[in-house]
Amino acid sequence: MMKNLIPLLFVCTVLFISCNSCSNDSADIVDGTKDGDTADETKVVDVDASLFLTSNGSVTVTTVPCTLSDGTSTDCYQIVANSTPADHEMGPWCPDNISDAADKGGIWLENGEVYDVDGAFIENMANFYNDSTWKMYDANGDIYTTETEDDCANAANPNVGEEYENFCVECLPSYVTDLTQTYLIPITPVKQSTSTDFGGFGPPGMGGNGPSQRGVAFNGVVFDAPAPTDAILGAYTLAPFDDAGGHINLNAGYHYHAATGVSTQLAQDDGHSAMIGYAMDGFGLYAQLDANGEEPTDLDDCRGHSDETRGYHYHVAAPGSNSFINCLNGAYAN
Ligand SMILES: [Zn+2]
Ligand SMILES: [Zn+2]
Repeated sequence: MMKNLIPLLFVCTVLFISCNSCSNDSADIVDGTKDGDTADETKVVDVDASLFLTSNGSVTVTTVPCTLSDGTSTDCYQIVANSTPADHEMGPWCPDNISDAADKGGIWLENGEVYDVDGAFIENMANFYNDSTWKMYDANGDIYTTETEDDCANAANPNVGEEYENFCVECLPSYVTDLTQTYLIPITPVKQSTSTDFGGFGPPGMGGNGPSQRGVAFNGVVFDAPAPTDAILGAYTLAPFDDAGGHINLNAGYHYHAATGVSTQLAQDDGHSAMIGYAMDGFGLYAQLDANGEEPTDLDDCRGHSDETRGYHYHVAAPGSNSFINCLNGAYAN
């Protein structure tokens, strides 16, 4: 089965995994109401295609027929995006020298925290990870960084050679100019009685039947599965994210592993957290914190809840968590 694919270093979003043969859970779908839910549970908000940033051509949205994971035949938005967000620059990722300030590098996520990958972070890695193998810079303080598309491809190989140990890995936008990604999102989300775990890469037996990708930002950039940071660090490499939480690989293009508030946010009139995109099931994705800096206290296991204005929707996790949402409560496009 697809979920038995071996882990692929850095290749976090190669495939949009769908699995007709292994999702036999459609028989027991009911209307999504349970345990005395209030009326707002029934409010369903369609995906608003006009929210996507289509004006510069980096994202196109068309309506196509689709079949959802619960068997629903309906219409979906087909979102085709190149790797060029219209609303912010990409990078930088790797600083050049251990004297560089934070503006010359990106971020790294560890233990729930966001760290600036500045020169000092690189210089301190042996201490930070308590492992003297780390030394990612030469006698001049210059940081060893992948320089070419070949370097980028090689450093992303699961059998990354020792020659890439102690390299800061960055793949540049110029390597993926021909790449587009296509996402299919139900226009009208259909809530399910049980949640679906995300599928994707991992050891055999891990992962669910759902897609591996979590959602799409208004700029067409995907909110991706967690970055395989253990594998990255295990190879003594560092593949920083830029300040928007994104980086590039040659298959997935530019993709996010953290929601840092850089991509377009749609402020809400009532002080609710800003909207940042849509989950793969068509329910809205919102920032973690509301206007008062508070996280909702009634989120379900997928990080969703309902209100009268937005219906069911999700709140993404903290940027340092290397995750967005934990599962899908709606049907997704097969
Ligand atoms: Zn990644
Ligand atoms: Zn909310």
